[in-house]
This record gives sequence, structure tokens and C-alpha cells, in this order.
Amino acid sequence: YSGKKPGQDITDTMNNMKVKDFQSIPVVVREDVSVYDAISQMFLDDVGTLFVVDQKSLLTGVLSRKDLLRASLGNQDLTAIPVHIIMTRMPNITYCVKNESLIQAAHRLINQQIDALPVVDEQPEGFKVIGRLTKTNITRAFLSLSESHEL
Ligand code: ADP
Repeated sequence: YSGKKPGQDITDTMNNMKVKDFQSIPVVVREDVSVYDAISQMFLDDVGTLFVVDQKSLLTGVLSRKDLLRASLGNQDLTAIPVHIIMTRMPNITYCVKNESLIQAAHRLINQQIDALPVVDEQPEGFKVIGRLTKTNITRAFLSLSESHEL
């Protein structure tokens, strides 16, 4: 053999990968920020998806690059349009939780044809956003698999 984990099959390693082991830090904006400021935030934090939260920091929406591009077509004043007008909103948000298997979350990204999932903590009042899981995180997990098994 040549793998570092001779006792563990690659499928076992895969099934044991959790969202929390690969998630990134979420970037959130409030519902009342303008489309203009959301675009600035996206560049500043170098992310492709922003999560929108209310005053209680509970998840209310998602903003993708294309959502912001679409809102930028035409001659509207982008500083005057709040993001809650254009975001994809709850309850239509696909999410995951930190102890879920990474494979399950990856299925959700592909099935819904989206780039990112908020990692949420389910609370009685709503969802607290605690992470961000993107296709990049899945690619990193894929690489870590090849490294740990010396493929
Ligand atoms: P882009 O549109 O920039 O290619 P996505 O494919 O992630 O990025 O987004 C496509 C659409 O799906 C957008 O309208 C976006 O608001 C929505 N969307 C993105 N992520 C989610 C999610 N986790 N749950 C529900 N809708 C989402």
C-alpha cells in the first residue's frame, strides 16, 4: 500500500467528512443595506454569496453575484434599492448544519444549482448564520481526500 490511512477505506473517510470541518466564515449584510453597498461588501470580502440577516442576526435572505448584476441592469440608483427587495428569501433558502455530512451538503448544492449554502444553527426564533459552505470548500475536501490517501 502507499496510503497514509491503510486501516481506513477512502469511502469511510468520505462519509466521516462533516460540514464543520470544511466550512468558511460567513459574510452577512443587513436587510436594509443598499444594493450598492452589498456589491462593495462582496468585493471587500472576496466572496460570491452574501447572507442577509435581520436586527436579531437571523437569516432572512441570500444574495448571489447574479442577483446583484440583475439589479444593476438599467439606470436605477443602486444606493436607493435595499437588498431585501432583490434577495432570495426565507423560507426558500437551502441550508445545512455543521454536523451534517459534507456529501449531503454537496448533493444539495448540485441539486439546487447554487454556489453556496449558509451553515445555520437552528434556534426557536429562526436561523443563526454560523458559516458558509461553497463549491470551493467541496473542492478542498476533494483534495484533502487525495492527500490523506496519497492518491
Ligand atoms: P449566481 O447567480 O451568481 O450564479 P448562485 O447560482 O449561487 O449564484 O445563485 C443562483 C440563484 O439562487 C440566485 O438568485 C440566488 O439568490 C439563489 N441562491 C443562492 N444560494 C441560495 C441558497 N443557499 N438557497 C436558496 N437560494 C439560493
